Amino acid sequence: MMRGPAAAASGAGASFPGLAERLSLVESEIQEAAREAGRHAEDITTIVVTKFQPPGMVRALAQLGITNMGESRHQEALGKVAQLSDLGITWHFVGQVQGKKARQIASYARVIHSVDRVSVLDAIGSTERSTSVFLQLNLTDDPARGGVQFEDLPALAEYALSTPGIDVRGVMAVAPLGGDARGAFAQVAQASKRLQSVAPEATEISAGMSGDFREAILEGATHLRIGTAITGNRPSAG
Ligand SMILES: *Cc1c(COP(=O)(O)O)cnc(C)c1O
Repeated sequence: MMRGPAAAASGAGASFPGLAERLSLVESEIQEAAREAGRHAEDITTIVVTKFQPPGMVRALAQLGITNMGESRHQEALGKVAQLSDLGITWHFVGQVQGKKARQIASYARVIHSVDRVSVLDAIGSTERSTSVFLQLNLTDDPARGGVQFEDLPALAEYALSTPGIDVRGVMAVAPLGGDARGAFAQVAQASKRLQSVAPEATEISAGMSGDFREAILEGATHLRIGTAITGNRPSAG
């Protein structure tokens, strides 16, 4: 079934064939996993990660009812946020935060999922508005992956709690590539408990991507960051 330029021009949805279908498939898989976990799907927030995707796709997703979007590169996010300010989107920043960009990121991102350093907390806390943060846990031994080690989480949490303008929401993690996702997310659930011993209100868990959101839901994730399962393949990085 070919779609010609006329169909593509007729509306944002039509420009992205299969988008609505992929979204509803993922939504039904979320419902199913929630049922399996004995949880309510309404307690789970899906953030659609639109990195590398054109602003038009964000618009199409907004028309399909998505209000939470995620970006991972500051420069790209900045451009989209400016073009799409009419949509009432809540922007989430999910990528590694460069210290010198942190303040700027906090100017448009309501939630920053990838906080792993005191200097980033200082920068975010220095803006006028309050920013919600997740503290990122590194589930590998590789410091380049971003995130703090399990044992360093309480100290970072205490610093975050003492920083004005920071609302600590919970813990975030990416499951190691090719590993046991369920086991990794069980560790994240442990880390969440550890965090709550210091910050009782920081109960949320940002975990689960296209390939492992079911496992994340089974281990208590409250915020899923889903890209390609909904958007389709990303255009090449260029
Ligand atoms: C890109 C990205 C995602 C989404 O990944 P998909 O596999 O496309 O679902 C989630 N979290 C982070 C931190 C990302 O960078």
